[in-house]
Amino acid sequence: MSYLFPNYGRWPIRITKGEGNYLWDEAGNRYLDLVSGIAVTSLGNVPHRVKVKVQEQLNTLWHCSNLFEIPIQEKLAEKLVSLTCGDRAFFCNSGAEANEAAIKLARRYAQKIKKQDRYEVITFEQSFHGRTLATLTATGQAKVKDGFAPLPDGFMTVPYNDAAALRAAITDKTCAVMLELVQGEGGVNPASPAFVEQVQALCAEHDLLLIVDEVQTGIGRTGKWFAYQHYNIEPDIITMAKGLGSGFPIGAIVGKEKLAEAFGPGTHGTTFGGNPLACSSGLATLETMEEEGYLARVAEMGAYFMAKLEQLSAVRPEIVGVRGKGLMLGVELAFEVADVIAKMRERGILLLQAGPNVLRLLPPFTVETEEIDRAIAALDDVLNTVTHTV
Ligand SMILES: *Cc1c(COP(=O)(O)O)cnc(C)c1O
Repeated sequence: MSYLFPNYGRWPIRITKGEGNYLWDEAGNRYLDLVSGIAVTSLGNVPHRVKVKVQEQLNTLWHCSNLFEIPIQEKLAEKLVSLTCGDRAFFCNSGAEANEAAIKLARRYAQKIKKQDRYEVITFEQSFHGRTLATLTATGQAKVKDGFAPLPDGFMTVPYNDAAALRAAITDKTCAVMLELVQGEGGVNPASPAFVEQVQALCAEHDLLLIVDEVQTGIGRTGKWFAYQHYNIEPDIITMAKGLGSGFPIGAIVGKEKLAEAFGPGTHGTTFGGNPLACSSGLATLETMEEEGYLARVAEMGAYFMAKLEQLSAVRPEIVGVRGKGLMLGVELAFEVADVIAKMRERGILLLQAGPNVLRLLPPFTVETEEIDRAIAALDDVLNTVTHTV
């Protein structure tokens, strides 16, 4: 009997330790971690440089309310602005909170700055934006909404990679479009360049804000700081969280200067957001990635992993397709993947799923080619043992 709510379908291993690319369970078994806490521990488990900075901060100041100016928060904001097309940052504690802030900012900008009666946010099928009431409403998956009615008004979902459907859905109530550039939970689905450029053009034509949800794709995961940087676009708001703090909970939005007035004093806030411990983890994560050249490494290891998956796919009819960007990879099988994931786990390799038929690989940026080879060999072997009909 557990004292926890049973809201997670948990795997039956009890994790107690992490170091680099590995996790250990209570019994002492070691696992190659290709999950990274769902794209969180991008520098591996307990990364040394981040640990040292957070330890220094632990000795100095843990928490300080946003009633005061917080130098380390300003420093992290300056860093994020320098890495993006945005001008201002707001800090919170999770991805859902970052998206919630973006939705609130878009509505308030329309209503208070532009003096328009607009509030609707358009999102896409198979998207995932979080578990708060507003962000689950924004999410394009019915299962996330089941049993939580009534849901807030002002959201509309249209097919992904379909600019004509977006164009047809825009009304005089629309204030923003919110987009994942590679859908994570929804199946590792990249947006096509033509679609993304059309979304930006439609936003410009109809005077809508373009929000990119980079909670999973951000902070180097796709081989650039942010996935939008693979495309020829400039979003108005970028949301982020997972990889920002190497495991310390932190979320943020970065937005254009024109939005600043819409979030004046008293409009929005959170007690813990941008707390010094969280900011020290964020700053140390970004500095480590920058100084140690991790973006190039993600591109290189991502290409290596992708090439190996494509080789495997060529000889394996069970694999329907491989896709992704950088170290965010999806392998679609011709059948449900749960059994494959369990068997990989028995071989000491941890993987995720994204929808019933897609294996999701989110390795740490520190992953080695030898570890990738080992994962590929294990997958090849496991595919021999699962019973299925192709
Ligand atoms: C995980 C995720 C979220 C939600 O983040 P939480 O920190 O779990 O609230 C939102 N958007 C995307 C794209 C995500 O992958």
